[in-house]
Amino acid sequence: FERMGRLKSFEVPTVLKHGIGAAKHTGEEVKNLGVSKVLLVTDPGVKKVGLIDPVVKSLKEAQIEVVIFDQVEPNPSVHVVEKGTSIYKSLSCDGLVAVGGGSSMDTAKAIGVEVVHGEPVLNYEAAEGKKPLEKRIPPLTTIPTTAGTGSEVTQWAVITDPVREFKFNTGGPLIAAHLTIIDPELHVSMPAHITAGTGVDALSHAIECYTCHYSQPITDAVALLAIEYVAKYLRRAVSNGKDIEARYGMAQAAMLAGLSYGSESAGAAHAMAQTLGGIHPVAHGPCVAAMLGPVMEYNWMGEPEKFARIAQAMGVNIHGMSLEEAAKAAVTAVYQLVEDVEIPTLAEQGVPVEEIERLAKEAFNDPQTVGNPRDINVKGY
Ligand code: NAD
Repeated sequence: FERMGRLKSFEVPTVLKHGIGAAKHTGEEVKNLGVSKVLLVTDPGVKKVGLIDPVVKSLKEAQIEVVIFDQVEPNPSVHVVEKGTSIYKSLSCDGLVAVGGGSSMDTAKAIGVEVVHGEPVLNYEAAEGKKPLEKRIPPLTTIPTTAGTGSEVTQWAVITDPVREFKFNTGGPLIAAHLTIIDPELHVSMPAHITAGTGVDALSHAIECYTCHYSQPITDAVALLAIEYVAKYLRRAVSNGKDIEARYGMAQAAMLAGLSYGSESAGAAHAMAQTLGGIHPVAHGPCVAAMLGPVMEYNWMGEPEKFARIAQAMGVNIHGMSLEEAAKAAVTAVYQLVEDVEIPTLAEQGVPVEEIERLAKEAFNDPQTVGNPRDINVKGY
């Protein structure tokens, strides 16, 4: 009843186009947005494996000029955003296309914020005392090459402030992409370890958003299907990257899990992973993936019915189990998946144990902890 009494909203400002080979249609779709010269935002790794080639070809066939900005780094900083903004303005671009993972898509969103507001994106951090976004970003098309963050459809960008060693969010409907083109062919080149880490990131979005205080029926629906798809397709995509059906399923899972964010946020695993990404140069996917099992082990008793439903979505037959057994079965199923796709531990990812206390203190203040299904404190349990 408490949830029903709160005003909820769900908004998807992004048009979705998807299917095998969809990237070939980029030119005509971007033209429909009224764009004539795009800044194509990507990272050197994505460019090197040729993933921007079909996109550039299609844009040029549609008589759209293309300026390539390929300097995006993992956990992108305010500095890379600033560089992109300066190129966008000096070359008079009128639209953005992001080809890459969450880092490229978030950088493009943040460039859009700076272009229309004429101020650093840092001024628009989603935090008390900071300004909300005031203007819609220029036409942005997201083309994800990882199946993880869901940034192609979310209303968030995550940018690093190196001064504070802090990854901050900026967001709202004004920052969402106008269009996303989801083409699983662009995911085939992803190495197994990136497929695994980003795939469990998608699972974490779905599980944390399904069980958090902000959940609502429409986000529950997309989250549950995302969980089912990850359970069905992630092992296949990791063991055979060319399995296009598995790539298609994971691309859909990431997008659905992105929609499960709604306009809200995730939970404790994301609060900790995002905090850690500001302190250490860890990749977001495997980092959140290593947090998910322990966070679920702590959280299941906050939402036992929902955890039992997660177990079912993960393919567990809960018939004959008590509610507690069924809820705990979700935790076991996730630990098993994390082990099967070989997610490295935080220690293996280079996180020193002495940093855990700082991590706990800083993550506790992350706004994403507010929706967590159980109250948390710095000490844990
Ligand atoms: P990423 O964009 O940092 O890319 C990781 C690596 O994968 C890069 O080296 C890239 O070159 C490589 N790569 C990407 N696609 C490839 C492909 N198809 N083939 C070969 N190599 C490929 O990773 P990510 O996990 O997609 O994004 C992480 C970022 O997204 C973090 O900063 C995280 O905080 C953020 N994030 C944003 C949201 C959101 O809603 N905006 C949600 C969750 C996470």
